[in-house]
Amino acid sequence: MYEKSEVLFKRAQQFIPGGVNSPVRAFKAVGGTPVFFERAEGSVLYDADGNSYIDYVGSWGPMLLGHAWPPVVKAVQDAAARSTSFGAPTELEIELAELIQQMVPGLDKVRMVNSGTEACMSAIRVARGYTERDKIIKFEGNYHGHGDSFLIKAGSGAMTFGTPSSPGVTKGTAQDTLTANFNDIEDVKRLFAENKGQVAALIIEPIAGNMGCVPPADGFLQGLRDICTAEGAILIFDEVMCGFRVAPGGAQQLYGVQADLVTFGKIIGAGLPVGAYGGKEEIMNVVSPVGPVYQAGTLSGNPLAMSAGLALLSELHKNPSVYEELEHKTAHLEEWLHRVFKHHEITHSFNRVGSMLGIFFCEGPVTDFESCAKTDVEFFGKFFHGMLKRGVYLPPSAFESLFLSNAITQVQLDHTVNAADETVEELIQQ
Ligand code: PMP
Repeated sequence: MYEKSEVLFKRAQQFIPGGVNSPVRAFKAVGGTPVFFERAEGSVLYDADGNSYIDYVGSWGPMLLGHAWPPVVKAVQDAAARSTSFGAPTELEIELAELIQQMVPGLDKVRMVNSGTEACMSAIRVARGYTERDKIIKFEGNYHGHGDSFLIKAGSGAMTFGTPSSPGVTKGTAQDTLTANFNDIEDVKRLFAENKGQVAALIIEPIAGNMGCVPPADGFLQGLRDICTAEGAILIFDEVMCGFRVAPGGAQQLYGVQADLVTFGKIIGAGLPVGAYGGKEEIMNVVSPVGPVYQAGTLSGNPLAMSAGLALLSELHKNPSVYEELEHKTAHLEEWLHRVFKHHEITHSFNRVGSMLGIFFCEGPVTDFESCAKTDVEFFGKFFHGMLKRGVYLPPSAFESLFLSNAITQVQLDHTVNAADETVEELIQQ
């Protein structure tokens, strides 16, 4: 069934560390051979062996309207025909910045970069430059890309591989990163009290998507807002995953809390390599060439990425009913998977915000890193493979969220629920 993928994986390992360009792809967390993809359309992925799968990863978020969505394909083709890069300003960059500003509350200025990692690294530098302080606070199990400052008790692949704190990060850098428990406002207060006047920024995934899906407790984000204001620290929302996914204005809009800086990734380029950070004018004015904080990029504002992003975001802006449909589909999936697991007496818990869904094979509620880490990783691996062979592609790690696309149909949702039923039945009998 996976012969070509197996051959490709062997070949890849000869030339690429672990055969992959990003660790979670290697399937180490779930075992077996990673599937090598050839193409995708809407919510269906096709692999090198000709197998097809209903996609619940969506390139880790950006495929909100499905793969190869025709307006995005056309926008990229048209842009490529005019040149793949200028390394100089284009009108497209203004258009996308303007559109993002219209959709997201409180963004006076936006700077385009090339990935979510870059966006978060840059936002931290800006916060440090603006406040003239060194320390940052992040949350255990949150992932903000692979910048040195963030690889301390990180989520996502770092958590999956049991290396939440990576070698190669200097002691000095690690000392400047303070970590708090997610959803624990007292822990945050403690860190601020112990580091009075030293904290430049607090960075958070307002809806954590890198330890499954973990929503903020009632009032938690507002609590952080109040503390940061009182302490003169910059509040950074990392909306690389939830931005434009949970609402047109992301978590800020959904929870009615305004950050000082916001970071975005992948989705603003409809899956092309892109990221952005932005926020209050006063803070963004420290960025070069207006201010002294240096941050640059040859390919930043790349015309292909800008064109793709414009095509996707303008549709979301025009047609917010997409969010209602996505919510409806994801709630349906959650409800029916719950029925399947309950019927087979499988211990489980779900967290869901809009079209982000976390499946945990442990007792709930899952509210932070510690409770998320209780999920049965081994069972998840078996469940993943049972679903895979029945044509359902889930995230290949127990610590990642599912991301639905609006291209998913009721028939595909039903297929997924049946696949889960058969898989669990099979696992029980083993
Ligand atoms: N922040 C969050 C919340 C993320 O989920 C990710 C990656 N999934 C990043 C930052 C880093 O983005 P990238 O992989 O584009 O560097």
